[in-house]
Amino acid sequence: MFRNIAVLGLVLLAGWALAQTQSPHKGELGYDDTPYLPGQKWRVHDVARPRPRMVTPGAAYGQPPSDAIVLFGGKDLSHWQLAGKRANRGKVSDPTWKVGNGYFEVAGGTGDLVTREKFGDAQYHVEWAAPAEIKGSSQSRGNSGFIIMSRYEIQVLDSVDNPTYADGQAASIYGQWPPLVNASRRAGEWQTFDIIFEAPRFEGDKLAKPGYATVIHNGVVMHHHQEIIGRMAHRIVGTYAPHAAEEPLMLQDHGTPVRYRNIWVRRLGAYDQPNP
Ligand code: MG
Repeated sequence: MFRNIAVLGLVLLAGWALAQTQSPHKGELGYDDTPYLPGQKWRVHDVARPRPRMVTPGAAYGQPPSDAIVLFGGKDLSHWQLAGKRANRGKVSDPTWKVGNGYFEVAGGTGDLVTREKFGDAQYHVEWAAPAEIKGSSQSRGNSGFIIMSRYEIQVLDSVDNPTYADGQAASIYGQWPPLVNASRRAGEWQTFDIIFEAPRFEGDKLAKPGYATVIHNGVVMHHHQEIIGRMAHRIVGTYAPHAAEEPLMLQDHGTPVRYRNIWVRRLGAYDQPNP
């Protein structure tokens, strides 16, 4: 008798423990009786709100997370095309830029590189190094460019002991906004950009909303949701012209052998996407 009661007790205890793991307390996973958030269709702590999907972060800072599109992982330029010089745009061919051990290098005079895939709102990571051998000054020293949507340039330049106009130094939104500070590393050293880019929106021929960029250079904030004035331009104010919602990323050939490695991108999703 006593033994039977003990067994029954154990069974009940096990059942209770199982119930604890399977059915959370009311309210633990959210609520359906709380007020609505202003401007949202969701309640505070809404139990029905989709939970964000899992993404595995890179093993170390700068390494691509599980949902990144790796544009250069160290081996080949299969994600890229040669866009040619500005004069004969429209004709793309296979890249002739040199691929070294884990990096690639601008082949001066061959023209800009563009991605085969196109991107709009996106998060970018890129690592670059100005040539270790210092040549030239101002805009001719280690110049390249990370040109988002083939139009909006985040400047690549050797900006250590290299005076130039402020809105043209490394990490500037070229010709528009200087970086907040100069966090440049020396020529030959690897540097990082992390960029969050919000593409401009057009309605017909009209600009409906400008583009915005947040730029982090070597871990330091350079631009914080900064409004972009228009496309990259030299000695004039860049303006907007309508383009597609997604356009190729471009790397600039400015005649100097700047190196690149570890380039990846993630399209920015919207809030409350269903979890697949
Ligand atoms: Mg440039």
